[in-house]
Amino acid sequence: MPDRDDILTELGLVPTWRLRGSPMHPSAQRGREATAAVRGNADALAMETGPPTAARAARIATLEWRDFAADVDACTACGLARTRQKSVPGVGDIHAEWLFVGEAPGSEEDARGEPFVGQAGKLLDNMLAALGMKRGEVVYVANVLKCRPPNNRTPEPREVESCRPYLDRQVALIRPKVIVALGKSAATTLLGTEATIASLRGRLHRYRGVPLVVTYHPAYLLRNLPDKAKAWEDLLFARRMLQTAGAAIDSTAGASEIP
Ligand code: URA
Repeated sequence: MPDRDDILTELGLVPTWRLRGSPMHPSAQRGREATAAVRGNADALAMETGPPTAARAARIATLEWRDFAADVDACTACGLARTRQKSVPGVGDIHAEWLFVGEAPGSEEDARGEPFVGQAGKLLDNMLAALGMKRGEVVYVANVLKCRPPNNRTPEPREVESCRPYLDRQVALIRPKVIVALGKSAATTLLGTEATIASLRGRLHRYRGVPLVVTYHPAYLLRNLPDKAKAWEDLLFARRMLQTAGAAIDSTAGASEIP
């Protein structure tokens, strides 16, 4: 386990930048294991090849963890089921205080069935470690899309809307104290705005009543190293929001600025 100085160094929060190859996170399977003993329901889902329906959303809204991963795996609501290797429902503590939401699985995630296991995931794990956290303990990690878009293309609106009931169910089951939207896709999906990350960060938003903070996607940060300091500020802001969760935060004002 790296010490705090190592982690802060890796985040670019001290002058030296060094990308280390192998962070920790093999313990991240707890939430997945909780969903592993599931029953198949392919028959019930076999007809779901049309547009998302209210009935389908209502059914997903009643799923329990024991059925969740198998339900995602059996889903054929959009064409991505045909091109993916593995579905990637999400991973972590099913009672997490923090829910991190990215865009969609990439190739490594598609092969392993776990979100954020590539280079971006390593950075995410190091950011969590800098906060004294790791996935699987008080943290749950998910994506807007549970299946990989071919060639990592941007998710299409229809795919997002087909998959949204699963994310909504995860939010309802986990009941996190804070959601962190990682990057534009997650922010656009969760907030219904095309606004830039720069304009959304530093403010408290809400999704389905849960406080939500926007920050840069780890893959973006790998290409734009100076912005890692901003992402760190965002995580500290999220932690403050979490710590004051329960206090009266005026969601309609929506403007708790980073000092
Ligand atoms: N990028 C994402 O948004 N999610 C992943 O799981 C991996 C990379």
